[in-house]
This record gives sequence, structure tokens and C-alpha cells, in this order.
Amino acid sequence: MDPFESERETMVRDQIERRGLKNPRVLDAMRAVPRHLFVKSSLQKHAYADRPLTIGHYQTISQPYVVALMCDRLELEATDRVLEIGTGSGYAAAVLAQLCERVVTVERIPELAESARQTLAKADCTNVTVHCGDGTLGFPADAPFDAILVSAAAPAVPEAYKQQLRAGGRLVIPAGKSRSSQSLYRVRKKSDSEFAVEDLGGVAFVPLIGEKGWQDF
Ligand code: SAM
Repeated sequence: MDPFESERETMVRDQIERRGLKNPRVLDAMRAVPRHLFVKSSLQKHAYADRPLTIGHYQTISQPYVVALMCDRLELEATDRVLEIGTGSGYAAAVLAQLCERVVTVERIPELAESARQTLAKADCTNVTVHCGDGTLGFPADAPFDAILVSAAAPAVPEAYKQQLRAGGRLVIPAGKSRSSQSLYRVRKKSDSEFAVEDLGGVAFVPLIGEKGWQDF
């Protein structure tokens, strides 16, 4: 018995479907992942609230709707291999894991990478690999990817992500010159040299810190 099942159902109905997101695969994935496992026990009662929550180290687990929106805009197929940058708690990786074949996720903070590994194991996510390192460089060893999800905000789209997508692949990334608010972009790789960029609207993410991102304070 999962004591949070009805809260999760309410989250999907009121926060996601009501905002117009109807993709049944994404809604099922959001219903399936036990979000309360990805937050500290003291915050479990807020796990299904309509907002981001702290996960320590000045980082957050994203708002459920934002995770659903990004997953939807990646247009994932069950056979896709996906790169996520910014593992954080591991929650978005677990949602992606429901929607595709394999997830490679990179986190720069070693303690978060380790705790995400443990939580993902507890949640039975066997198709996710967590790496610790600077995700602004992507993960060339496993490229190309069908889709890339960036869960932290870059000053500009790092070139490595575009290179590490296969032709036809999709990248969803928050980017912009402000460290506090950005636009969410979808970049579609049409061919090795041709990319289509769409602005999906305003968002507020923590910064992507690294060689091709923001500098650490
Ligand atoms: N997807 C996460 C989840 O479901 O909990 C939320 C991610 S949180 C909004 C952003 C994460 O990106 C933080 O954990 C942060 O440490 C990480 N991050 C920032 N810069 C990074 C980089 N260069 N490489 C990898 N991770 C990075």
C-alpha cells in the first residue's frame, strides 16, 4: 500500500491535467513515480505540493508540473536513450525512466549524486545511471542521445548538447542571461548543421554551474 497514492492522483489531475497537459504517457509516469521518496522525510507531507522543494546544498526538486511539461516537450519514445543534466534528487530521472529505455544523468554535487543513486534503487529504477561531474560538457562517452533534458539554467545553450543529440533528437533547456529567471527552450536537431529553436515560456531554475555554464560563487 502506498499512502501517497491519492495525493499523487490529485497532483496529476489538479496541477498537470488542469493546466492542459494531456499526454497519457506523461500523466501515467507522473502517477507511477513515488515523489515522496525523493524528498527528506521532514518534507514528505509537502512532496505533492504545487511547488519546488529544497533537497539541500542550495538545490531543489522541481515543481511537478514543470517536470511533466519538460518530459512532454521531449516527445519521448519507449526506445529512446535520454541524457539528463542536473540529477538533483533523482526524481525527474525516475519520471524519464518510465518514458524511455535508458537514462544517463549527471550531477555535479557528489552527495546529491550518491543520494539519488540510493533513492532510484529504492524506487526500483533499474534503467538509470547516475554520474558525478560537470554536465555542461554533456556525456560524450554515451552520445548520441535521442533527447536531452537540462534541469538547471544555462546562460546560453552549451554547444556540446547540440553535438550529442542524434539527428531528429530534442533538447529541452532553461536558458537566459539572468540567474533568477529564464525561458524554457526546445531545440530540435534537424540535421548535423540545422537546429530549430522554440521558446516554450518563462521558468525559474537554479543555475547550471560549470565550464560551459555559470561560474560558482
Ligand atoms: N532534476 C532534479 C530533480 O528531479 O530533483 C532537480 C534538479 S535541480 C533544479 C538542478 C540540479 O542541477 C542541482 O542538483 C545542481 O547541483 C545540478 N547542476 C548544476 N550545475 C550542474 C552541472 N554543471 N552538471 C551537473 N549538474 C549540475
